[in-house]
Amino acid sequence: MSLNIYYQKDCDLNLLSNAAICVLGYGSQGRAHARNLADSGCRVVVGLREASGSWELVKGDGLEPAEVSQAVRQADIICFLLPDPAQPAVYESLVAPNLKPGATLLFAHGFNLHYGQISPPPEVDVIMVAPKGPGKLVRDLYEQGQGVPCLIAVAQDASGRAKQTALAYAAGIGGARAGVIETTFAEETETDLFGEQAVLCGGLSALMKAGFETLVEAGYAPEMAYFECIHETKLIVDLIYQGGLKKMRRFVSDTAKFGDITRGPRVVDEYVKEEMREILAEIKDGRFAREWILENQANRPMYNALLRAEEAHPVEEVGARLRSMMGWLDD
Ligand code: NAD
Ligand code: MG
Repeated sequence: MSLNIYYQKDCDLNLLSNAAICVLGYGSQGRAHARNLADSGCRVVVGLREASGSWELVKGDGLEPAEVSQAVRQADIICFLLPDPAQPAVYESLVAPNLKPGATLLFAHGFNLHYGQISPPPEVDVIMVAPKGPGKLVRDLYEQGQGVPCLIAVAQDASGRAKQTALAYAAGIGGARAGVIETTFAEETETDLFGEQAVLCGGLSALMKAGFETLVEAGYAPEMAYFECIHETKLIVDLIYQGGLKKMRRFVSDTAKFGDITRGPRVVDEYVKEEMREILAEIKDGRFAREWILENQANRPMYNALLRAEEAHPVEEVGARLRSMMGWLDD
């Protein structure tokens, strides 16, 4: 499938010049989007809970805070930069009842729309602008005249201008300087969940722990196991990030490379791939979403128990000790 990629010249920031933009949430993404949009000349109001600790932070950044329902009432574009599990309740109670006709709802991740947790009326535009990086990077690169690549998608185009709005917003936060890739809510949601489960968070941490446990169970020192199976992943990942697997293989020894290409496929074998396909199937047919939504409704009993067990794993104790020897690492 070929991709549409857009740049600065394809985006018309002027489309936002008369728009009142309401950013809901002032965390990682919210703060970065709000500040970048304001510096791009947009009119931004930050919607906060009355009890939120962020009122002074928003003012200190030179922006205008307002209580959520009040911010929504005036807004042409409402950006959901709240934690995903919090979005449906905020939508129901504070956004939907105050929505201006012709407003645009904007998301930075497709979960709630894709799995039907938020169902906007047909007369509003529903778009996604999702930077492929954390908020801090979105802000830092913007200040340096660069930007983080963004994904855009359109779920509802009531106005006929939804995609143009998404492109303008992507330019406003600096993303069009790097490039804007067009996708769909389904593709963004499913690939994002799969990546974090099978590879980035789930797969990688399980791989590192399994390697650590194998060495420790064979009688090697936990300190050695930690360095070899966990600490050094950063060096490898940095090389891959900069120049792909090819660059990583230029920088490791021939012995390491030979072990890599002959043993790697035995570790991540057809059984692992079959499990990955099953995990993808659970994402696509909504089983994962249902589990996570119900888990939240039950106040996260499994989430809390499993995380507590993870925190008690020996890698954490050994790791803390070794990292304290490396004062240059900032936690
Ligand atoms: P975050 O947890 O950093 O910030 C959320 C903010 O919302 C906080 O300021 C919190 O105080 C506030 N908040 C929580 N509940 C609220 C409520 N009921 N009413 C009002 N405010 C409330 O979240 P984030 O990481 O910035 O994620 C926001 C969105 O961006 C999510 O949809 C996420 O999937 C998406 N996203 C995040 C990243 C990332 O790297 N962090 C990248 C791309 C997309
Ligand atoms: Mg993710």
